[in-house]
Amino acid sequence: VEARLPTGKTFDSFDFEAVPMISKAQMTALAAGDGWLNKGANLLLFGPPGGGKSHLAAAIGLALIENGWRVLFTRTTDLVQKLQVARRELNLEGAINRLDRFDLVILDDLAYVTKDQAETSVLFELISARYERRSLLITANQPFGEWNKVFPDPAMTLAAIDRLVHHATIVEMNVESYRRRTALERKRGP
Ligand code: ADP
Repeated sequence: VEARLPTGKTFDSFDFEAVPMISKAQMTALAAGDGWLNKGANLLLFGPPGGGKSHLAAAIGLALIENGWRVLFTRTTDLVQKLQVARRELNLEGAINRLDRFDLVILDDLAYVTKDQAETSVLFELISARYERRSLLITANQPFGEWNKVFPDPAMTLAAIDRLVHHATIVEMNVESYRRRTALERKRGP
């Protein structure tokens, strides 16, 4: 199983106090997987860069694997590129079907899908194919209002959002960049 999780990004190394809108208990419960992965429900993590979305997504992914679930962690743009290659080879459906073996596909950083990549809508195909069957965890810098940059046209953006949120837990991590915060704290001293 290819998980490709970034190393060191665990619950233990995550400072939950920096993100008061979530709790460790809540995240550990999600990391059990029951109640959402078996239903194909989704988890969406929103917030500005550096707020810990990728770290948390990786920590949840790792915990889910430890709990026996099959998880793929990928940067959204990497997977989109792969699916575009498959599409050119007339094998998009096959490539998307192969992702069915993962209970959860983690799409990190939706923001970095460029308009250019969006033209072919492979991301929309993936979202539609997994809808109500297999889960997605998406991290994104922009709120839904700016997702028009990610999909080819407004109708497709709406349809994608509709499918994603129908069965979803949405976490808004509106916190200051952790890197910036810790840098400032070092400057100020203990
Ligand atoms: P985002 O995905 O929201 O842009 P990242 O998860 O990439 O943010 O976080 C940026 C860096 O700061 C990473 O090295 C991450 O491990 C660290 N970090 C962010 N938030 C926390 C936190 N609450 N506790 C510990 N490390 C954090």
